Amino acid sequence: MTDKIPATLLAGDGIGPEIMASVTTVLDALGAPFVWDHQSAGMGALESQGSALPDATLESIARTGLVLKGPLTTPVGKGFRSINVTLRQQFDLYANVRPTQTIVPGGRYENVDLVVIRENVEGLYAAMEHYMRVGDDPEAVAYGAGFNTRAECNRIVRFAFEYAVKNGRKKVTLVHKANILKILSGIFLHEGRRVAAEYEGRVELEERIVDACAMELVIKPENYDVLVTTNLFGDILSDLAAGLVGGLGMAPGANIGEKMAVFEAVHGSAPDIAGQGIANPLALMMAASMMLAHVGRQDLSARLDAGMKQILTTDNIRTRDLGGTATTEDVTQALLRAI
Ligand code: NAD
Repeated sequence: MTDKIPATLLAGDGIGPEIMASVTTVLDALGAPFVWDHQSAGMGALESQGSALPDATLESIARTGLVLKGPLTTPVGKGFRSINVTLRQQFDLYANVRPTQTIVPGGRYENVDLVVIRENVEGLYAAMEHYMRVGDDPEAVAYGAGFNTRAECNRIVRFAFEYAVKNGRKKVTLVHKANILKILSGIFLHEGRRVAAEYEGRVELEERIVDACAMELVIKPENYDVLVTTNLFGDILSDLAAGLVGGLGMAPGANIGEKMAVFEAVHGSAPDIAGQGIANPLALMMAASMMLAHVGRQDLSARLDAGMKQILTTDNIRTRDLGGTATTEDVTQALLRAI
């Protein structure tokens, strides 16, 4: 038996509490090893504790190093930083992992099974931006300079190859734009090749220029396995990939660092359907499945994945975003029967 594993649970805002209740009910029934430390963040925390990311929450995350997170509403207004960005930077969550798989048949694509791994802390998103004055227009020119370090390129590509080895995947595609951004993107490509050489014979290396990759992802996504790329390209390609297989309600993600991992759904707090009991809990459920695999419980992760597949295909239990009529509770109950 696995020992109990402490983990921080953030139910989140909007549909967060509804879908999190579904996920924890199913995890309990599975016998998942997590012992939850319930904390709050987002709009709910701002209203009750005066901070969107209270100290108690940060202390819990630092202590457990493992988080299951519902969607958080980012308060609108000056002075509020995105909570996700804060967590990413504070805990050095350098790898964003976004798997995409065809589960619901009859969609536009069959047999999609790929993972986009995005570098999360450098690149153009770490740019120092400013305007420059020309004549009497103070904002005539917008200027931004990003950076990629050799060390970080090495770390993210190594992460991708290790992920491939651990998850029985065969190929890693380095996605870049080194033909134009010869230095900024070139350092990623060259360092990536060096790392790839260490895995020769175990994991195949492929290289793609980002624009060609975007086209191929739409034309023949089944050709891809693991893709690894820098921050901006990864942000775009991972959403593109989610769109191939049923959209946001089916897209899980993980942000992973050396000592810390945060698992979540890619979608937001969906205020338009909050409180109606109709949200699709499966993206967060898939994130929970990734979390089980992360702590070494591949057995439970596989059971949960098989259960989700069964309710979507054999039982035909689908929420509205997938063209069905099932409620969140219907999905929970069907999964409890299926696992
Ligand atoms: P959203 O993802 O919340 O919603 C976009 C659309 O998708 C809506 O029509 C919504 O009803 C639908 N949708 C999303 N998740 C669904 C689900 N599980 N089941 C069924 N339908 C679903 O995006 P938004 O409206 O742009 O953002 C709302 C709030 O969420 C904002 O405050 C934003 O900052 C926040 N947000 C948080 C995260 C996060 O915490 N990871 C991510 C994105 C957005």
